Amino acid sequence: VSAVEVAQAHLDRIAAVEPKVNAFLHVDPEVTLEQARAVDARRAAGEELGPLAGVPIAHKDVFTTTDMPTTAGSKILQDWRPPYDATVTRRLREAGLVILGKTNLDEFAMGSSTENSAYGPSRNPWDLSRVPGGSSGGSSAAVASYEAPLSTGTDTGGSIRQPAAVTGIVGMKPTYGGSSRYGLIAFASSLDTPGPFARNVLDAALLHEAFSGHDELDSTSVDAPVPQVVEAARSGDVAGLRIGVVREFGGDGYQAGVLARFHESVELLESLGAKVVEVSCPSFTTALPAYYLIAPSECSSNLARFDAMRYGLRVGDDGTRSAEEVMALTRAQGFGPEVKRRIILGTYALSSGYYDAYYGQAQKVRTLIARDFDAAFQQVDVLISPTTPTTAFPIGERADDPMAMYLADLCTIPTNLAGNAAISVPCGLADEDGLPVGLQIMAPVLGDDRCYRVGAAVER
Ligand code: GLN
Repeated sequence: VSAVEVAQAHLDRIAAVEPKVNAFLHVDPEVTLEQARAVDARRAAGEELGPLAGVPIAHKDVFTTTDMPTTAGSKILQDWRPPYDATVTRRLREAGLVILGKTNLDEFAMGSSTENSAYGPSRNPWDLSRVPGGSSGGSSAAVASYEAPLSTGTDTGGSIRQPAAVTGIVGMKPTYGGSSRYGLIAFASSLDTPGPFARNVLDAALLHEAFSGHDELDSTSVDAPVPQVVEAARSGDVAGLRIGVVREFGGDGYQAGVLARFHESVELLESLGAKVVEVSCPSFTTALPAYYLIAPSECSSNLARFDAMRYGLRVGDDGTRSAEEVMALTRAQGFGPEVKRRIILGTYALSSGYYDAYYGQAQKVRTLIARDFDAAFQQVDVLISPTTPTTAFPIGERADDPMAMYLADLCTIPTNLAGNAAISVPCGLADEDGLPVGLQIMAPVLGDDRCYRVGAAVER
């Protein structure tokens, strides 16, 4: 089959289900088909293309794209056309992937449900009354609904793994710096990590490999070989592997069906020859509050660039107002409530007199969490936990309760603070609601291949 035929089939699927799912913020069939024709032409000309050439992909709308708008789910960037491609976008174009469109997200990737998008929520294909997770919820919904075989996301506190878990697909947060942030609209720069979504572990590994590797345009890019993720995903051999169950994750507050599937996965791994032990990571319980100081602090600094002069929306610039008034009006209308909450929190935490008590303390907690991981990885090869405490929640249920929303990332955040790798793979359906459950597998920095090896052994 040609790239054009594959692209057209997916565009048809999008046209059919998008009114229900709302996974995309932007679809432009002509631009997609033009890309597909170019890939077919490259192949006809004898060019050696990688294993994913001609495969369609949907990009989270935080990666810049020269031929499609990039909004970050915000009114402040409505219709913005970036002048350059993100490194992730560019590498995947070069590998011959065809962009189907840009997917919905919580505004500036702040949230766990896509309900913070300025363009309305996406819906979970398993149950349209429920959220597809977030912030990369458009990307998870697109793959789970067969609108796209692959998609990209970003994970700052769980925004790839949590949406993957609640839509029954695979989502991977690579080692921080393993995938380039160049051209990614920044939320919290010391945490933001691009990563893949797919319907199985091997596809995720192929996509991971296609966009990863050192990038001199990102100053925090790791200059090391890309871990052998594809080989690991093909193998799935866990015999003799030491696997640690994080004692702190599970128990009160976790849905029974989530814990049941988790315990089954443990038994499965043991039956495949892995050695499972319990490991304690006491600082993990303090990760959530530390994250909600560090991430807002960094966002308050990153979002200062939206000043009504350089990008997108400009409100009230009629010659009667000062630049400062225009900036204030633009931000008041351009940013949604969660983004404003984070900017205010972060500005407060960074202000003189409070810096040591809040941001400084949070950085110390961050170090303790990294030490917990180091100590754990002296004893075991990977750590496992449920990806999320519950299955997908109903749209609206947590929208007015930030604390309840923040709890969705309880198990995923430690990995972001320490910078190591973690994946979520589907491990069955919860008995009480029939909704997907995710197993999280955490590996050391640059041990991404271990996530895929174990993931391939347990995925359902
Ligand atoms: N849900 C978390 C937050 O709102 C994580 C978001 C993310 O990983 N981008 O900050």
